[in-house]
This record gives sequence, C-alpha cells and structure tokens, in this order.
Amino acid sequence: MTVCEPGTVWLVGAGPGDPELLTRKAEALIRSADMVFHDALVGPGILSLVPASADLVSVGKRAGRHSKDQCTIDRMIVDAALAGQRVVRLKGGDPSIFGRSTEELDACRAAGVPVHVCPGITAASAAAASLGTSLTLRGKARKLTFVTAHARAGEMLDLDWRTLADPQATLAIYMGKKAAPDLAAALVAAGLSAETPIALVENASLPGERVLRTRLGLLPLTARSALGDGPALILVGEAMAARPAPLPLRTSYTAMATSRSADP
Ligand code: SAH
Repeated sequence: MTVCEPGTVWLVGAGPGDPELLTRKAEALIRSADMVFHDALVGPGILSLVPASADLVSVGKRAGRHSKDQCTIDRMIVDAALAGQRVVRLKGGDPSIFGRSTEELDACRAAGVPVHVCPGITAASAAAASLGTSLTLRGKARKLTFVTAHARAGEMLDLDWRTLADPQATLAIYMGKKAAPDLAAALVAAGLSAETPIALVENASLPGERVLRTRLGLLPLTARSALGDGPALILVGEAMAARPAPLPLRTSYTAMATSRSADP
C-alpha cells in the first residue's frame, strides 16, 4: 500500500463525506501522515483515521469565512515537507475539481518538494448516487459540465451562459446555493426552459443528506427555503427527470424514500 514518505506532500481526495467512500489509497496515506492539513468539508469520520501522533491542522475554507488564505496554506504545506514531515493535504471530493490544487502543486514544485495526488469521489458522483440516477443519459444528456457558481465577493457570475444553456447536457453546479437566483435567471435568459428538471442534493453521502427534485424555474425558491447549511450540489438537465424503477414496497425503503426526497 502506498504510504506518505518523509519530506513529501500528498494532495488527497477525501470524497463527499461518507468515510466508506474514501479510497483505500487515501486511507493508507492518511494513516501514514505526520501532518494533515484539512478543509472544513472533511468530517470527523475521516479525520478519526489520522494517527494520534500526527498533527491535525484545519485550514478550512467555507464560503465567506476563509480561515487561511491560499498563500498561507501553500507555505504551510511546503514548510512542513521541507522540515521532513510526511504531509497529507486532505481536500473534500476530488482535489482536481474546484479544489485549488494547482496552487499547492505549483508551490511544492517551486520549492523542490515531491508532490503527488490521490483522486477522490467528487460531489457530483455522490449526488447522482443519492438520487439513484445517472449524470448522463443516452440520447438526452450527452455532455456533462462541471461548473462553479462561486464568484469573488462583490463580483457578478461571469460564465458563458449560452454554452451552458444546452438542453442536451447535464450541468453539475458546485457552490451554487447563494447564486441560485442568478443562475436560474441567466440559464433561462440564455434559452434553457424553466421546465428543465433539476435536482438539489445537500450533504450527499452524509447522515444529513437531503434530496430535492424540481424544475429550473423553482430553483431560487427551493435553494432559499428548502436547503440548510450543508454543502449542496445543483444538477440541471433532462437526466434529472429519469427516476429509478420503483422497488417492491418494503417498510424500510418507504421510510428512507420519505425522509430523503421531497417533491414540490
Ligand atoms: N473538490 C470538491 C468540490 C469543492 S467545492 C469535490 O470534488 O467534490 C465545494 C462544493 O462542492 C460545495 O459548495 C458543494 O457545492 C459541493 N459539495 C462538496 N461536498 C458535497 C456533499 N457532500 N454534498 C453536496 N455537495 C457537496
């Protein structure tokens, strides 16, 4: 099994939250670390794998509350590796998707620190699993676009709406909760029907998971009134209309379906 060597940095994908969705490689790296720098989205189930002898440092960033700026994080991981530590930088989901990993890779390389990446399950995959659906759909959703709706404070979202408003695509929108009204308005203005099926999945794979299916026109209302504080992914496109085949009724399944999904 791969372990973290002294003086080395591993950027490790922690997956969407459920510790069972961690890769075996990620777990081995975490268990072999001397120092673990983690994001706010990495929960206690995964952090409990960090050895008691290791230093655990939260560099958590949640919208609007940046506890450490990116340059500081870059410097911390580089300094730890130069001091001979086995460094794991633990990031939610997959490090290569909206994870600011380029900055950290560049900082390590510039300092001559060996750096590697361990992929993780991204939130969009976990959300699709929560929905019991597929992100792509033969003949209807031939394209899958990962997009972030996070704009810098005070800036408007600057996206190519005409390309995004593609009725043959699925949009997986990260960090879109706050921008939901702008997103919906811009997609409809660019030609996507307000009737387009959408799904919102909050806390995918975690105990507080919530799944909502609605239409694009109702995105602002749904995001405002039905979501809590957890991370949420918005999925837009015809693939979201496809429902899993009904299972034979069993009490446990009915209870689960009732608590997990709310149809408008
Ligand atoms: N690298 C991460 C994404 C980081 S951006 C990945 O690959 O998943 C953070 C955003 O990801 C959140 O604002 C939310 O939109 C999404 N996200 C992360 N974890 C999630 C979860 N468990 N459920 C739903 N969305 C999640």
